[in-house]
Amino acid sequence: MTDETEADLTGVPLRRRPKPSVDTVGGRRLSPATLMMGHGYDPVLSEGSLKPPIFATSTYVFPNAAAGKRHFEGVTGKRPGGAEGLVYSRFNGPNQEILEDRLGVWEAAEDALVFSSGMSAIATLFLSMVQPGDTIIHSGPLYAATETLIGRVLGRFGVNYLDFPAGATQDEIEAVLRCAEGRVPLIYLESPANPTNALVDIEAVAAARDAVFGDAQEKPPIAIDNTFLGPLWQQPLQHGADLVVYSLTKYAGGHSDLVAGGVLGSKAHINTIRSMRNTIGTICDPNTAWMLLRSLETLELRMSRAGENAAKVCAFLRDHPKVERVGYLGFLKDDRQADIYRRHCTGGGSTFSLYLKGGEREAFAFLDALVIAKLAVSLGGTETLASHPAGMTHLSVPDARKAALGITDNLVRISIGVEDADDLIADFEQALEAI
Ligand SMILES: *Cc1c(COP(=O)(O)O)cnc(C)c1O
Repeated sequence: MTDETEADLTGVPLRRRPKPSVDTVGGRRLSPATLMMGHGYDPVLSEGSLKPPIFATSTYVFPNAAAGKRHFEGVTGKRPGGAEGLVYSRFNGPNQEILEDRLGVWEAAEDALVFSSGMSAIATLFLSMVQPGDTIIHSGPLYAATETLIGRVLGRFGVNYLDFPAGATQDEIEAVLRCAEGRVPLIYLESPANPTNALVDIEAVAAARDAVFGDAQEKPPIAIDNTFLGPLWQQPLQHGADLVVYSLTKYAGGHSDLVAGGVLGSKAHINTIRSMRNTIGTICDPNTAWMLLRSLETLELRMSRAGENAAKVCAFLRDHPKVERVGYLGFLKDDRQADIYRRHCTGGGSTFSLYLKGGEREAFAFLDALVIAKLAVSLGGTETLASHPAGMTHLSVPDARKAALGITDNLVRISIGVEDADDLIADFEQALEAI
């Protein structure tokens, strides 16, 4: 047992701990961009290696039997907060723990968890909270797989849902909450909604929840999928959300080379979700966690550049004669959506909708003429991507619902990357000419 070894109250040595991270210098609180280079990792524990090694192991050796027992009390939820040491790679690992510490830094979250995909994060969240007879309240539309999970999968287990449109007011949200039969286990939001970019008024949702449920002990938590704007341009925990959900595949990973998910929030809710993750094994693997640590070092650089690029590209597209409309958050003005944007967001992001004059023929001609932008679904990577929702991601959505969501044949979805903005504008200009 060395000085760095932490012991429990009875003196059982548990685990060598990293020395505490420095998060202030001369009284100055360090920003997340600075903390991404070292927070939560102590090189002394890894032979002085500047970067965390990838811990490729399925299981961990306990210092003694009593420590093993104590760790399992944490893993099984007998004691809250998870294991105090490393046990088995379905539960935790150094790469994932460092990643969780750093993810939480961006939004000053009490705790965080990482998952094998955005959908496994969302599925684990739902499974940890719902029971037969419950009614999930959610904003609409949602990411298609999330809608499938709520409607078709959880529906088979007796879980109901009610939804309200993304832009709903506090009164409208309250009315939906009062219609719910059975227990409401969770209020689930996605903002901006995919693919309409409609923003949800998180502050109004929190006010509606508090008005309807008061101080009830079982007040449903508010969870929100913040994949499109987080963590740089929208921080929902500051606006009344209890949990923030991510597809880390997108901006956080940022290089279109991995799939992962995350959930951030209060310790109490994270403990509930961690128990489910421990049971079903939806944690991300050590290699992916290591790649995400690398990605987080450039998160602010990448997102800032992509956001600036998108503003320039959208300004160009808006005035082009072959463009009908550009659905970009940075252009919102003088309406309820603009008001939500002003209160919740610090930037318009880099994913937007481009409505061309014409229909599918014009959209396809435009997409096929692009040279720099690649024709692929997904978003938030270093490279610019373009896709056709009506013919791709939303192909199986019924026509009436497509029309209601504004998913028309002339719609192209674009995610702007970190290339040179003028090069991108030149690419879009020649592709528009090719129509
Ligand atoms: C991509 C995405 C998801 C799903 O994430 P995966 O990592 O693909 O599982 C969920 N929500 C939103 C908004 C997304 O864009």
